[in-house]
Amino acid sequence: STDLNKLSNEFLNLTHHGFKVKNKGCEIKLITEFDSSLPKVDVVRQEIGRVFLNIFNNAFYVLKDLSAKKSRSNEDYQPTLTLTTSGYTTLKGGKGVKISIADNGPGIPDSIKDKIFQPFFTTKPTGEGTGLGLSLSYDIITAHGGELSVESKEGEGTVFVIKLPLM
Ligand code: ADP
Ligand code: MG
Repeated sequence: STDLNKLSNEFLNLTHHGFKVKNKGCEIKLITEFDSSLPKVDVVRQEIGRVFLNIFNNAFYVLKDLSAKKSRSNEDYQPTLTLTTSGYTTLKGGKGVKISIADNGPGIPDSIKDKIFQPFFTTKPTGEGTGLGLSLSYDIITAHGGELSVESKEGEGTVFVIKLPLM
């Protein structure tokens, strides 16, 4: 079984490192809040890793863009990615693990909110996105018996929530 505090932190450091190498001078603040009593979960590590990779990269992508714009207009803005883990219990008493990935980026317009999990949907320029990341992530989490959801407000940011049951 897998310690998702450790796995999510590993992938956060990996994607953050890759981001810093490609975007020198663009500072993104990371906040992590790990539940120290998080139960271990039976998952396919590489698959859940791909989900983290995609959601973190999506967040870094929007934060980079906003950071560039804000620094030109000299506004006081700190692009931030927050990773939080916690346990949860359903009404029926089922237990699981919840992982939230929040960014204070541009948010997702209501008009496209129901499209982002569809295969090939992307708002990125040609060559920068395949539009497959979230659709693949959704399938992976669903295949694990879990749920992948999003909450977002334009101008405030976006939170992706992964829920994985303990079985
Ligand atoms: P891709 O990254 O190749 O565009 P994804 O399936 O990973 O494909 O994401 C689909 C779309 O969802 C993105 O193009 C973007 O419009 C939107 N999106 C995903 N994550 C975020 C985010 N953190 N903030 C704002 N929009 C997002
Ligand atoms: Mg993506």
